[in-house]
Amino acid sequence: MSKREKLYINGEWIETNEYTSLFSPYDGEVLAEIPSATNEHIEIAVKAASDAKNILKKMPAYERAQILEKMVKLFEERFEEAAKIIATEAAKPITTARAEVARTIQTYKFAAEEAKRIHGETIPLEAAPGGENRIAYTVREPLGVIAAITPFNFPMNLVAHKVGPAIATGNTVVLKPASQTPLSSFFLAKIAEEAGLPKGALNVVTGKGSVVGDALVTHPLVKMVTFTGSPAVGISLRNKAGLKRVTLELGSNSAVIIDEGVSLEKIIPRCVTGAFTYQGQVCISLQRIYVHENIYDEFVAEFIEGTKKLKLGNPLDESVDLSALITPNDCIRALHWIEEASRQGARVATGGEATDNMLHPTVLLDVPVHSKVSCQEVFAPIVMINKIQNIEEAIDYVNDSEFGLQAGIYTENIHVALNAADKLQVGGVLINDIPTFRVDHMPYGGVKNSGIGREGIKYAMEEMTEMKLVIFNRN
Ligand code: NAP
Repeated sequence: MSKREKLYINGEWIETNEYTSLFSPYDGEVLAEIPSATNEHIEIAVKAASDAKNILKKMPAYERAQILEKMVKLFEERFEEAAKIIATEAAKPITTARAEVARTIQTYKFAAEEAKRIHGETIPLEAAPGGENRIAYTVREPLGVIAAITPFNFPMNLVAHKVGPAIATGNTVVLKPASQTPLSSFFLAKIAEEAGLPKGALNVVTGKGSVVGDALVTHPLVKMVTFTGSPAVGISLRNKAGLKRVTLELGSNSAVIIDEGVSLEKIIPRCVTGAFTYQGQVCISLQRIYVHENIYDEFVAEFIEGTKKLKLGNPLDESVDLSALITPNDCIRALHWIEEASRQGARVATGGEATDNMLHPTVLLDVPVHSKVSCQEVFAPIVMINKIQNIEEAIDYVNDSEFGLQAGIYTENIHVALNAADKLQVGGVLINDIPTFRVDHMPYGGVKNSGIGREGIKYAMEEMTEMKLVIFNRN
């Protein structure tokens, strides 16, 4: 029988009465038995986090930083083990899984550094009549218990984007990882434990999203909900969270605009990578490409050539670029969306079929704006390439979306670049790059249905702290 995992609550590994099997998305093999937390477990976990909050709050910043630095060291030592866990439970090709572990290390490193830089500012109260002879300053205080709910697609680094800044700011966490990728979070708990994080400061509870998630979001001791996942779930959580602080990092249908006069040789490999890395299951995956009519045919031909070189297979195979989608249903859904686009007039230039649970990287041309592959988040290895006559038209297409996470534009013209930076309705504009770019200290987040709030360690730490004003009266 496969290994039974345990919940991690108040520094202890806890068995439950109910388990569900975790299957490999690639070959269906049973990877582990995952405990289902009951409401009672969640109650104990939240209480443990609440009891630990004063310990974390009072812990000097350098000690919090030391724990985070120790976690960095342990991740470095167990790098390959961590990468294999991600590759196996998420069907992420091993080379991409290694890149995620490297970024996870960066994220905790940034958190360790930022833990030492939390500060407020002095406020010149005498600038207002009646404010004379007063000294005022702000401090930033931790919120207390944070519920972190995370998605399957970056099971280590997106958890790090919540746990890292939470520890850095002296908060405590109850973490609910995605049901398909709990092993990365249990691995993290072991690392945090070994690094000396006080008991109760990090708790990992697994189980059905709607059950565990709901219990956390409505719990009175939980002061903040930090969620990364799909727009539908994120919006429903926000509606239940009342006055709790909420940050939502949601989906998108990210786009890039290609102006005439750019060097295709340089950008094609980058665009192919942006569209198909981790089977397109990335929140800023390149989904829509708008290419100037003067270079459209050449761009399409070279893009298809690049796409055809990609290799599908076992995520643990070093030479594999794409593997299985996260569930068979996602593969079926993606095929339906391709069919729908074809019926509506799009052309399938390559791909459009699946082997087992692996969708072949698919390029669609002339896709109508109302096709799902254009206007919804596709979250599969499907990219559309449409022809545009001018950049203004392309900007309108990019903005004609319910999402707005990141967008890119390739152009040699500085005026075109500045105009696009002004007009694109997104959280981040990339000039001369694809939208699929992120390093872990940059402010990251969306507008419209792509979310609220920002991550990127320093920015997440602002969200996870409350500003308090202190005024001394010298009169
Ligand atoms: P998901 O289905 O929304 O799940 C995300 C998390 O929410 C999981 O832990 C899930 O648990 C939990 N959940 C599900 N239903 C819930 C409910 N009713 N109440 C509370 N929690 C609930 O998303 P996913 O499929 O894992 O991830 C893909 C999505 O994440 C995409 O839309 C992608 O764009 C987005 N994403 C956004 C960013 C960003 O930074 N903007 C980054 C990565 C991914 P279960 O797994 O147990 O259902």
